[in-house]
Amino acid sequence: PCTDYDMAYFKAYSHIGVHEEMLKDHVRTNTYRNAIMHHKDLISGKVVLDVGCGTGVLSIFCAFAGATRVYAVDASDIALQAMEIVRENELSDKVIVLHGRIEDVEIEEKVDVIISEWMGYMLLYESMLGSVIFARDKWLKPGGLILPSHASLYLAPITNSHRYQDSIYFWRDVYGIKMSCMMPLAKQCTFMEPSVETISGENVLTWPTVVAQVDCYTIQAPDLETITAAYKFTSMLQAPLHGFAFWFDVEFNGPVRQKFKKQASQPLDVNMQNSNPSNKKKKADVSIVLSTAPEDAPTHWQQVIALISAILVSFLLRYMVILKFLENCIANIHKNAVVFVMQTLLYLFEPIELKKNQIME
Ligand code: SAH
Repeated sequence: PCTDYDMAYFKAYSHIGVHEEMLKDHVRTNTYRNAIMHHKDLISGKVVLDVGCGTGVLSIFCAFAGATRVYAVDASDIALQAMEIVRENELSDKVIVLHGRIEDVEIEEKVDVIISEWMGYMLLYESMLGSVIFARDKWLKPGGLILPSHASLYLAPITNSHRYQDSIYFWRDVYGIKMSCMMPLAKQCTFMEPSVETISGENVLTWPTVVAQVDCYTIQAPDLETITAAYKFTSMLQAPLHGFAFWFDVEFNGPVRQKFKKQASQPLDVNMQNSNPSNKKKKADVSIVLSTAPEDAPTHWQQVIALISAILVSFLLRYMVILKFLENCIANIHKNAVVFVMQTLLYLFEPIELKKNQIME
């Protein structure tokens, strides 16, 4: 059944602004178009289902790639606009717009391809991946193509003094008025919940760790309820640790490729730190990737920043001092010492746990 939450969600997508923002995100939209054209052989002459079609942009790209029929489904009133857009492009014989939830609509046939732009902030926030899973299980023919096919969520410690000063020290002097008494409240609010902002590669303190991996061909709805990852890192820079950043990428692979050896929600270790901030993943066998990493071209997803409280920072820094001492004493076990201390610390501060619709606990 359609809940109040769903109603509000679909109403939000009836406004032109969100669609304009997504379409103007050239990194996003061009990567989808490239991926569709790259898989032309698997789309041409085939039946496609576009889960959450919005303006119908991806459905129309699929029609351009030679799809025989495209079912473009959206529960939001934007579907009415999609119908007009399809007509304006004289594609009404190929693209069938259905105004309804993917969970409710009836399609006359099974499909060869599912395409969807389902990613939310931090990959899974307010994500409609559950609806893509539903569509896959109900409408995709065995061996069908899903675009995108794989997704990874990354986590890295960050330093961002400018950001910290901007939110906290700002209150020291406001138009010549002392407002330092606001600083505790500012800290409380700044650290209370993660925010969507842009950082650069220079803010990132070490290689990112993969905290979740999604294989759209195999993932099941229960896998999305809770994602837990034990986390440890080795700082590569000396800089204040202000918090952590999350970002994601998605890959557009064909149906046969089994990319991930590890299951999502299994504990990860430092060996899994597979992507250097300045060295992109080796993607020799991966055709097309849509990345929202700080070192890549910006997208409307930006990054998600969770700043940690000053108390925690000073606590960590105290351990850094001990570490420095250790380093001087026994230089060659430095790296392991860092890992060990960080592991202990993060153990004390509990493993990071992400839940659907709730960024951090
Ligand atoms: N494909 C478009 C829009 C992506 S935004 C583009 O790339 O520009 C995601 C869209 O999915 C929104 O318009 C939203 O209304 C729709 N949506 C989300 N969950 C849905 C569901 N369960 N059934 C139908 N549409 C859904």
